[in-house]
Amino acid sequence: MPHGSEDNRLPSALFVNRTNPKTKILPNNYGRRESLHTMEIIIGRDQQTRQLCIIKDGSARLYGRPASVPMDVSRHHISLQPVGAGKWQIRNLNEQNVTYVNGIAIESKVISEQDHIELGKSHSLFHWEALKEQKPVVETVDIRPLKQVWDEYNLANISVKRKQKNIGLLSSIPIGITMLGGLMSGILPDEFKPIAYVFTAIAFLVMLYGFYKRLTDNSIEEQEYFKKIFQQNYVCPKCGHFMGFKDYDLIVQDKACPYCKAKYIK
Ligand SMILES: [Zn+2]
Repeated sequence: MPHGSEDNRLPSALFVNRTNPKTKILPNNYGRRESLHTMEIIIGRDQQTRQLCIIKDGSARLYGRPASVPMDVSRHHISLQPVGAGKWQIRNLNEQNVTYVNGIAIESKVISEQDHIELGKSHSLFHWEALKEQKPVVETVDIRPLKQVWDEYNLANISVKRKQKNIGLLSSIPIGITMLGGLMSGILPDEFKPIAYVFTAIAFLVMLYGFYKRLTDNSIEEQEYFKKIFQQNYVCPKCGHFMGFKDYDLIVQDKACPYCKAKYIK
């Protein structure tokens, strides 16, 4: 595709309204997949508004007029990764995607900002200024629901520990009964001595019960289960990163997510 012809050719091209692009910040989690590669910028079509969608640092922005991006541009169409000195690695993100650099279809290529990028079979022009339009913004995240996750995890842990303690106590009871039986057989008159045997029998039964309790004790599994649930839920609602086994009150003191830098809402 020759240079310079695209403006007339593409009335519904990506950035029709260049002077007043409507940029908008999308709600949380939009770019969770991409937040793993913070330098990587994902470009595609927003499913709802059909504007150009630029995902960077885990947050997505819309650019251009609604319905300005043709349907042959996919949601995650290309990625751009800076490779230094004004150079970018451009990459098709899906094998169905079609991307042209200076009119030639590519899968992956190192390009510069003078190169002419078109998305989709309809050759929608990508304007580099779409990237420059992005002013840094302070993202926020509400982590208050994490307090309950932390509290529930602690309560669950306490109940498991209590159970383990009770089983520990149970195992010491037979020893006590046996000692008591032995003591009684020493001090009681002969005709009451059989009582000592009864004590021994009781001690034996309690010991068996203790064994049984130990065998059926699933507190380790329970603990692992609670830990797993906790690790799944004690995550930043924005970037999904696990917050660690750290008290909620300490996390709040950080004021922002250490992973995605989103500021906590008070
Ligand atoms: Zn985060």
